[in-house]
Amino acid sequence: MAKADFSVPEIGEHIEVPLLVDGTMAHSKPYVAKADFQTPLGYPGELVENWQQKAIDKMGELLGKYRSLRVYLDSCVKCGACTDKCHYFIGTKDPKNMPVARQDLLRKVYRRYFTFAGKYFPKLVGAEDLTKEVLDDWYSYFHQCSQCRRCSVFCPYGIDTAEISMAAREIMDSIGVGQKYCNEIIGKVFRIGNNLGLTKGALRDTLEGLEEDVLADTGVEVKYPLDQKGAEILLVTPSADFFAEPHVDGLIGYGKVFHAAGASWTLSSKASEAGNFGMFIGSYENMRRISMRIREAALELGVKRIIFGECGHAWRVAYSFLNTLAGPFDFLDPKYPVPQHILEFTYNEIQKGTLKFDKSQNDHMVVTFHDSCNVARASRMGPNPGGQFEIPRAVIKAVCNHFVDMDPDTIHEKTFCCGGGGGLLTDDLMELRVKGAVPRVTALKQVIKDHGVTHMAAICAICKSQFTKVLPYYGLEMGQIVSLHQLVSNAIVLSGAQETRDEDDD
Ligand code: SF4
Ligand code: SF4
Repeated sequence: MAKADFSVPEIGEHIEVPLLVDGTMAHSKPYVAKADFQTPLGYPGELVENWQQKAIDKMGELLGKYRSLRVYLDSCVKCGACTDKCHYFIGTKDPKNMPVARQDLLRKVYRRYFTFAGKYFPKLVGAEDLTKEVLDDWYSYFHQCSQCRRCSVFCPYGIDTAEISMAAREIMDSIGVGQKYCNEIIGKVFRIGNNLGLTKGALRDTLEGLEEDVLADTGVEVKYPLDQKGAEILLVTPSADFFAEPHVDGLIGYGKVFHAAGASWTLSSKASEAGNFGMFIGSYENMRRISMRIREAALELGVKRIIFGECGHAWRVAYSFLNTLAGPFDFLDPKYPVPQHILEFTYNEIQKGTLKFDKSQNDHMVVTFHDSCNVARASRMGPNPGGQFEIPRAVIKAVCNHFVDMDPDTIHEKTFCCGGGGGLLTDDLMELRVKGAVPRVTALKQVIKDHGVTHMAAICAICKSQFTKVLPYYGLEMGQIVSLHQLVSNAIVLSGAQETRDEDDD
């Protein structure tokens, strides 16, 4: 059991609505970004002098740009349907982590400066001045929202707290109060090409190492190409796939699938990161700059298709925004959607009968599946509604004999965030991350108890990192979280592999 310097919640039989404890997470704040991390992104290095006016001006600019923001701030009727739907509220008991209360932190300032009633009768409509105390609350509680959108599924008006959190973070960045974790990472992407700061040389070494490992393991020369001009497919994947467990096992799986399908593919040292933290800080300009690397890499390499690896928020940005941020992609093969997900590729190959599997290779596992919130509620896969739920499960069932779903209230569009999404996957927020995982861990423990589940598969780099870190706080093993393509990798039968294994046996 991992040790904590905060109290780790007890996991009950079922997910329960907690009794309120005021201010229990008011102390939770991520490190503030220093000037070195602010200025490369176009933000002031520290809190600017006339920050109140600047923040109000920025809010006005965002209200003019995004009509949805004004609609969300105007339309809440305080029905209460969202109050108990946030994993951070369930795990922390702090009433300010109720989605409606989180929205109200911005809404009260909006009312004060942008509505008639708020300007002249502020007390009557709950309008408040933007003070330093309010700004402190914004910094704390808008960094306790993983922008997972679960609350919006239950809101009769579809109010999206994620968009409100993004706007709040953008306003704070614009006055010099950015979050270190996100802004440092975005800077690394601009300077080096990926979140982890892996150089081209390090990438090449890693990929050569993977080729040797797969050859030793299967006897088959599976290639993991980098910057290969003229390849058909550009694979853009989260940089965690290049080295961390269990992510790298997923990358091994993608390579085996491409090999078995006879596809020509490459990774890119320029676009060596699928993640796009520009979304977490609500900055379309930074999202655009990050996305442009993918367009440039695709053009330089002359590829015909772009496929994304297992990364939840990367797929959300790619699926929803890549074409408007970095398009048009009229130089790619029009036969394929832009972009595609690796699971769509694998699923299509399974449908075509190109891939062979020995499912018994996964017989030591009883697998469940964690729907990543960004995939579930902000994207799709395949041509049919709900493809983002069906395709991952269809692929798991094609490669595993034992699969069990978790409580229906915690999967598909009602899935719970892992607790580390939305730019919160940083050690300075460990208490929040551990507490935010309560609903998912509760549902996981149910299927462990009732069905003997041994492993949980995920298709998001953040979910995998988060669970690897927080499962031990709840008496579970970090190895119980696996990449979905790791299951594919275990079961796929590569032609030539058996003969070599036999030779080795001789
Ligand atoms: S978007 Fe997710 S994290 Fe944010 S308030 Fe809603 S449920 Fe909570
Ligand atoms: S469910 Fe929607 S309308 Fe109801 S309180 Fe929550 S945000 Fe407001």
